[in-house]
Amino acid sequence: MPQKQKKLNVAVIGAGAMGLSAAYKLAKEGHDVTIFERASEIGGLAGSLEVQGAKLERFYHHSFATDRALQGLAAELGLGDKLYYKGLTTGIFYKGKQYNFGTPLEMMMFPPVPLLDRIKFGVSSAYMRFLRDYAPLESVNALEWSRKYAGKKSTEVIWEPLLRSKFGRYADETSAAWLWGRVHFRTFKLGYMQDGFDQLYTALADKITELGGRILFEQNIKSITQESAKKPVVIRMENGRKKYEFDRAIVTTSLPILNQLIGAPAPKKQPKYLAASCFVLELKESLVPYYWLSVNDTDFPFLVVVEQTRLSSTADYKGRHVVYVGNYLETDDRRYTEDPKKLLNEWIPYLQKINPKFKKSDILKWHFSKAPFAQAVITPDYSKSIPPHKTKLPGVWFGTLSQFYPEDRSQDYAIRIGQKVADLAVGKKF
Ligand SMILES: Cc1cc2nc3c(=O)[nH]c(=O)nc-3n(C[C@H](O)[C@H](O)[C@H](O)COP(=O)(O)OP(=O)(O)OC[C@H]3O[C@@H](n4cnc5c(N)ncnc54)[C@H](O)[C@@H]3O)c2cc1C
Repeated sequence: MPQKQKKLNVAVIGAGAMGLSAAYKLAKEGHDVTIFERASEIGGLAGSLEVQGAKLERFYHHSFATDRALQGLAAELGLGDKLYYKGLTTGIFYKGKQYNFGTPLEMMMFPPVPLLDRIKFGVSSAYMRFLRDYAPLESVNALEWSRKYAGKKSTEVIWEPLLRSKFGRYADETSAAWLWGRVHFRTFKLGYMQDGFDQLYTALADKITELGGRILFEQNIKSITQESAKKPVVIRMENGRKKYEFDRAIVTTSLPILNQLIGAPAPKKQPKYLAASCFVLELKESLVPYYWLSVNDTDFPFLVVVEQTRLSSTADYKGRHVVYVGNYLETDDRRYTEDPKKLLNEWIPYLQKINPKFKKSDILKWHFSKAPFAQAVITPDYSKSIPPHKTKLPGVWFGTLSQFYPEDRSQDYAIRIGQKVADLAVGKKF
């Protein structure tokens, strides 16, 4: 620990990528850390379940070649060699047909869009890729921008279904800066951690405990208070009886939860969130010839099919083909609230439209997961509604996925924010 830095007793709320990264940094610097996690496991949105004895993320997760913080952390924890990157196939399912849509050439040959619009799509995407700063697009509406520069048909077939599937009824309110982030930071190779990202989070948790930190599970925090800057931060649990005192606290939940915890009113301009739901299907046979298939037929009940075993291998799951079927939704959507078994039965005919050879009996096992705060909606001038790291309580600091902007939220970004908010909490200046 630097000579003048006082050893502090710090609480971290949330054992996702951000909370674990923050706690690890502080524990390495000699601070006392205690993580409070509501769930019974680590990982948050990047948490895992078991598929044939192997750990697999509940929601599809890949890494981009530019994920420097993730790569740095993996290397530090002895997992650097487990990260690998490879070229993968991507497709679009549109009007009952699958099309390759992974490389610039495939995009330029995409049959559902007429030639002039394909050229416009190519030129506008190249502009996004080379535009260094998103500022000129900050206050521009994504769909209006796309219709004007990428062409009406490219918008109808490519961008609009993507925006609708990602942001639901907020698609019309989305900022072109999100499109910029999507195109600008994309790398053509995608990566994975051999045997799953869970190893990264398990290694972080192990290091934190080795360094004297604690991780407490099934701890639903009810409130965080602090009378003044010189008084301790007081954390109370759901039952109201248990109470802990700390010098500082770092909260890594969504903004609405932070506001409930610290008793702050909801800000006038607050990011909206969408939930995510996802099936993991363990299959006898491959479902699609792609890693990633965007389902751009708007009458389908799901938006993406991700064949995990094209990124990893069937050998990792005792020969089974593993496929995600995912959605971004609002929490009152029937596809979020309905019994998953019923949903899966209803969706089988749609999976058969994608692959007519697919049979219900190909599903050897399935899993279903959902998360209420999975994606912040990026509206024009979003930068003005990004919640700050500082909260109304002097000892309480905040890191969250709605601060990821203009890049899409990722494990890499969660690690970066976790490390930054850890520094802020113990008074490091930038
Ligand atoms: C469908 C989907 C696909 C994704 N794909 C990718 C991808 O391909 N690549 C990639 O890098 N990233 C991907 N991500 C994003 C990545 O998962 C997140 O950016 C990252 O995991 C966020 O970590 P976090 O710690 O900030 O938040 P979270 O993971 O949300 O962690 C917050 C934690 O706080 C806990 N908590 C909440 N309230 C309380 C409370 N009151 N008391 C105690 N604990 C509480 C929660 O249980 C949770 O564990 C994807 C996410 C989703 C949903």
